[in-house]
Amino acid sequence: MNTHASIVIVGGGIMGAGLLYHLAEEGCTDVLLIEKGELTSGSTWHAAGQCPSLVGNYNLAKIHAYSNDLYCRLEELTGQYVSWHASGGIRLGRTREDLDWFTYMQGIADNIGFRMEIIGANEIQKLNPFYNTEGVLAGAWTLDDGHADPAGLCNAMARGATNMGAKVVRHNRVTDIRPLPSGEWEVVTEKGNVVAETVVNAAGCFAREVAKMVGSDLPISNMEHHYVVTGPVPEFMDRDKEIPVMRDPYSSSYLRQEQHSGLVGVYEQDQMTEAWTPRGYPSWDSDSELFPDDLERLMPWLGRAMEQMPVIEQAGIKRVVNGAIPHSADGPPLLGPVAGLKNFWLCCGSSFGIAQGAGCGKYLAQWMLYGDSEINMTGFDPRRFGSFAGDNYMKEKGFQDYGRTYFTPLPGEELPAGRPQRTSPLYEKLKRQGCVYTETFGWERPKWFSPDGRDEECSYRRNEVFDVVRDECLTVRERVGALDLSGFAKYDVTGVDAARFLNRLCANRMPTKTGGIVLAHFLSETGRISGEVTITRMADDKYYLLSAAGAELRDLDHLLHGKLDSEQIDIRNVTDDRGVLVVAGPKSRAVLASLTAAKLDSASFRWLSGQEITVAGIALRALRVNYVGELGWELHPAMTDMEALYDAIWDAGQEFRIGNFGLYTVNSLRIEKAYRGWGAELTNEVTMLDADMERFIKLDKEHFVGLEATAKQSGQARTTRLIYFEVDATDSDVRGGEPIFDSEKCVGVTTSGGYGHFVKKSLGFGYVPPQYADPGTELRIGLLGDRRQAVVLREPAYDPANERLRA
Ligand SMILES: Cc1cc2nc3c(=O)[nH]c(=O)nc-3n(C[C@H](O)[C@H](O)[C@H](O)COP(=O)(O)OP(=O)(O)OC[C@H]3O[C@@H](n4cnc5c(N)ncnc54)[C@H](O)[C@@H]3O)c2cc1C
Repeated sequence: MNTHASIVIVGGGIMGAGLLYHLAEEGCTDVLLIEKGELTSGSTWHAAGQCPSLVGNYNLAKIHAYSNDLYCRLEELTGQYVSWHASGGIRLGRTREDLDWFTYMQGIADNIGFRMEIIGANEIQKLNPFYNTEGVLAGAWTLDDGHADPAGLCNAMARGATNMGAKVVRHNRVTDIRPLPSGEWEVVTEKGNVVAETVVNAAGCFAREVAKMVGSDLPISNMEHHYVVTGPVPEFMDRDKEIPVMRDPYSSSYLRQEQHSGLVGVYEQDQMTEAWTPRGYPSWDSDSELFPDDLERLMPWLGRAMEQMPVIEQAGIKRVVNGAIPHSADGPPLLGPVAGLKNFWLCCGSSFGIAQGAGCGKYLAQWMLYGDSEINMTGFDPRRFGSFAGDNYMKEKGFQDYGRTYFTPLPGEELPAGRPQRTSPLYEKLKRQGCVYTETFGWERPKWFSPDGRDEECSYRRNEVFDVVRDECLTVRERVGALDLSGFAKYDVTGVDAARFLNRLCANRMPTKTGGIVLAHFLSETGRISGEVTITRMADDKYYLLSAAGAELRDLDHLLHGKLDSEQIDIRNVTDDRGVLVVAGPKSRAVLASLTAAKLDSASFRWLSGQEITVAGIALRALRVNYVGELGWELHPAMTDMEALYDAIWDAGQEFRIGNFGLYTVNSLRIEKAYRGWGAELTNEVTMLDADMERFIKLDKEHFVGLEATAKQSGQARTTRLIYFEVDATDSDVRGGEPIFDSEKCVGVTTSGGYGHFVKKSLGFGYVPPQYADPGTELRIGLLGDRRQAVVLREPAYDPANERLRA
């Protein structure tokens, strides 16, 4: 075995093999994959092998689509049998929400380029004459997917990789992983040690155990999952075409043909069990392991599935497979770096690893080798979880995710498992005022305030919350609103080299005067966007950084890893130490003025500046900046002072009819101002120039990370551009992922949107080729099956001259 490798991958299941293959395909062949048993002997060998296209997440759908595209060619590419069955699949829809989801997904399919048709019961019957379609409203028929032999796929990718020069060592357990002073890793194995520059944990159900070797933990639960195989079905024998894989929310199951037999897999929605209970971890000698079956537990789901297709029921159960699936806490896999470690990556936590293995491998390989992937990886980055994701959290979330496999994803849905984890001191108080919370990075953050106890009926269309959000918007635009945004990530960067350090890491120039505020971006070496921070110069050697709640660990890594040994700076994550109360609206100055001796007029406290002041006797950092486009301040007191501060502001605001508002309202107000969102418009897929953010880049600075690539791009023709548009929506607004059409041709994709309640316009952002980006260009947006007229706007729909902000 080699004693050195650029990259060591721990684990030879479909995820490890998928990464190995794509690293090699990119020309990186000094890679060693180490597997403790045979390849596939973890979860992969016993999988049912289905590879669906229909997943309710745009970037995950790209991963699935890529896998399907590769798998049908893989046998030819590698010479290894994979048994690809291009059966297609049908997801059945039984409710109006299912149909709305299908039309939303149709747009995603148009964009990504996989074939999908929404078909009625008669057509479903033609494709599968044995299925009972009573109560079925429609089916989402995806034509490019199918199923394959999972071991064949895994071995084919491993073989393809070794043909290109990568190495695989089997029957060799990794027993420890140690950091070396050189910054490399020493991978200790049963057959000797390997020094690696980079290590990837692709250990499937063992991923938490491998993570422990480097002192970290992962939010993965290992769940038991069953499928049954029936005896031969005579009706299948006479057919020359295989039935599509059927997926039915009624029975929470998938059902397909396995040669001439039937195969039914069930995602039970209650009584599900963690594999290897009670500890939840496999033992190291667990290899090609199956668990005793528990058919009773599968009822009534299995019964329902059989009932829907009696020819399968009549064939009788011949074999039961009950194996382990790793489930991340929120569903998508964990692809990316481990927080706090350098050159240690994850490629695990995939509950649909067969469908995702190739796609995960491709896009993770790009990220590892080039610093960016061509798809948005934010939703897969393992740093979307922090230390809040303890044992109970991951177990409750994992169970929830498993049980909801065939639930239709609905916008705005709040799922209860594992909550609350992180709350501000205002949590209970706001709840009593009707606050409905949403969760980001463990934080409970106000989403909207129910004025009369109403609940939200989640839907792809406007619902009963629409009017409530309008009222909250008017509160902010016409009077004054308060919002608890304590979940913001916050860092103090101090030291004599702080300015130099931040100027090197950010595309924008740091403020030169104390109190100055800038919006700044971290770029990769290739010039793509990796982070967005608001930076206030508190003193010559002291900067206060704010970032998105979900980016707390990502940006902390960026800062810590970006620091040079020679730089004298201290970087502190102060997220939990300070709260954030936004007070915004034309009356915000009057409310605050009654509580502070500080001067708040524009000459004394200008827009885009910060000061340390005292409000209601509480010392705090006040920043005259906000994301809603109004006169207003963000107040950052000690977290322990949040309640007293809120109470004082609430009392003083009564005279001006102050109101609470939540993140739904923030979205409406920011889209009116054309403020871009990190993770939506600003992602690792695009550059600052693509995102029309030139004013935040200072090309005349001596240096910043990404400068060369940005300068190079600025001299070249663009390939994509961000547009801001108004659309003539009726009862559904843009959410992101919708196709943008020029006549019949799909030319782009939306990134986010919403209804601007004050300007009374449905608005959105999207990326298109430059020839469609000029203001006034007429396009069409695919909104739930309708193609709605849209026009590209030149400037923000609200206050384009920033007069309200400067007031
Ligand atoms: C019954 C069943 C049906 C399923 N059906 C489908 C399906 O139809 N479609 C689908 O997409 N998914 C399906 N899945 C899920 C799928 O099997 C998993 O998502 C996938 O196999 C996970 O792949 P992996 O590479 O992450 O993990 P694994 O396949 O478990 O690979 C991890 C490997 O790491 C090795 N390893 C661990 N620790 C070490 C160490 N210290 N040193 C060296 N090697 C180590 C293990 O031996 C193992 O081989 C099914 C799962 C089950 C249980």
